[in-house]
Amino acid sequence: MADKQYAIVLDTKKCLNCKACTVACKFENFVPVGDDTYRIWVTEMPLQGKFPRLHQEYQPSQCQHCENAPCEKVCPTKATFRTREGVVLVDYKKCILCKACMAACPYDARFVSDLHEAVEKCTFCMHRVSEGREPACVETCPTKVRVFGDMNDPASDAARLLSSRQHYQLKPEKNTRPRLFYLA
Ligand code: SF4
Ligand code: SF4
Ligand code: SF4
Repeated sequence: MADKQYAIVLDTKKCLNCKACTVACKFENFVPVGDDTYRIWVTEMPLQGKFPRLHQEYQPSQCQHCENAPCEKVCPTKATFRTREGVVLVDYKKCILCKACMAACPYDARFVSDLHEAVEKCTFCMHRVSEGREPACVETCPTKVRVFGDMNDPASDAARLLSSRQHYQLKPEKNTRPRLFYLA
């Protein structure tokens, strides 16, 4: 049987910018409070329309779990690696804090963790997924912006969305082949 291939599909039109996902991630993963220590963030997109009919969308994002991950390529100690399920992780014990991966990541998804004394980032909450639970950000979002699932399972909600809805990825010109898919 083929390995699972995990992905997150996002519908940004549902995002309220409440930032519950960012708080849930910090609590779940013991991410320190601070403006430059985050595994997940919400970007406020430019205002659209004309006053008074203005409209704004929000774009939540995190590590893209790139299939062609520049962070993995530059890591001199192989601390950064991809699992068989396509999840990019960091082995904190192997990280020498050279920060090459931080410079190589086109999505600015990594930061130095005082807790781990290593570079860290989103893990797709693999500690929860291995117990059959959803990632904390997926579970917490009140409007269910994110759908997490196995792209290889045609019956999964993630695979169904990808086969039935138009979608795009961030910075496709970087050829990173992200595992985050945004519904158009
Ligand atoms: Fe947007 Fe959901 Fe995050 Fe709130 S929890 S900011 S709605 S993605
Ligand atoms: Fe690596 Fe950045 Fe891609 Fe995540 S988004 S896999 S940290 S290059
Ligand atoms: Fe944070 Fe887990 Fe969501 Fe990644 S999947 S952003 S680690 S809550």
